[in-house]
Amino acid sequence: MNYRHAYHAGNFADVFKHIVLMRLVEYMKRKEKAFRVYDIHAGLGSYRLDSEEAAKTEEWKAGIGAVLDAPVPPAVAALIAPYLDAVKAGGDAVYPGSPRLVRDLLRKQDRLSLYELHPEDHAVLARNFSGDFQTRVTHLDGWLVAGAHVPPKEKRGLLLADPPFEDGQDFDRMVDLLQKCAHRWAGGTVALWYPLKRRSHTDDWLETLTMLKHPDLVSIELTIREPRAASMLNGCGMIIANPPYTLRSEMETALPWLVRVLRADKGAAYRIKKL
Ligand code: SAM
Repeated sequence: MNYRHAYHAGNFADVFKHIVLMRLVEYMKRKEKAFRVYDIHAGLGSYRLDSEEAAKTEEWKAGIGAVLDAPVPPAVAALIAPYLDAVKAGGDAVYPGSPRLVRDLLRKQDRLSLYELHPEDHAVLARNFSGDFQTRVTHLDGWLVAGAHVPPKEKRGLLLADPPFEDGQDFDRMVDLLQKCAHRWAGGTVALWYPLKRRSHTDDWLETLTMLKHPDLVSIELTIREPRAASMLNGCGMIIANPPYTLRSEMETALPWLVRVLRADKGAAYRIKKL
């Protein structure tokens, strides 16, 4: 396990992923009934932007740095306010990871289950949430969660998979995860983050997902440049199973703005596709 998210925290992919994630959690809060969020590749929980790792790549500058400098139209501001509030709450040189962001959005009745396999990252994560009775931190292979810990006793909830795509197998693991969740927790919302390098590769994988014939599956993508070079992260996407009915129109409001703020060249775009 070589991947360390500290090098990438707050980059354009984090901003996109965390805005989508925040909208999913906000939708869950429309009902009083408790829900659970599983974050099966949790990372550290939050990141210092003045760390040695962040300084090496400076990826956050073209991500959250650009977002914080940009004027935000009122319709977009209304949608992303909970995300920006969570980012600002951490202080100047801190960026919240998905665990911190979700935790800040939960109500008293909601629960968060975090999984992290890297021993050092797990230790930091556990320290960050020690004493928090609403959050459970587990040192476990997150891919086991769908077959073991799902469904939650709350019945309502959301599972986020955000793996490092290090060994070439995470695209297949995502397919397996979706099938397991559909079988064991048909009503659960599942959010899968994926990198977008070459358009043709991504579209082949999306075709595989279409063949699953899931009743309610959507892909939401953002590219910052033309997705041609396989060596670069040109964009990213989220597959959402059982998305809230509000998500498409929210994304159609927020993403044109986000594309303008995060774009690296004229190939920047967004796409929302039912699978
Ligand atoms: N979700 C985090 C966020 O948005 O702040 C970032 C997660 S980072 C992209 C991926 C994390 O997954 C890394 O911290 C890595 O150590 C961890 N990881 C890799 N393989 C794993 C596995 N099989 N189970 C659980 N965690 C894993």
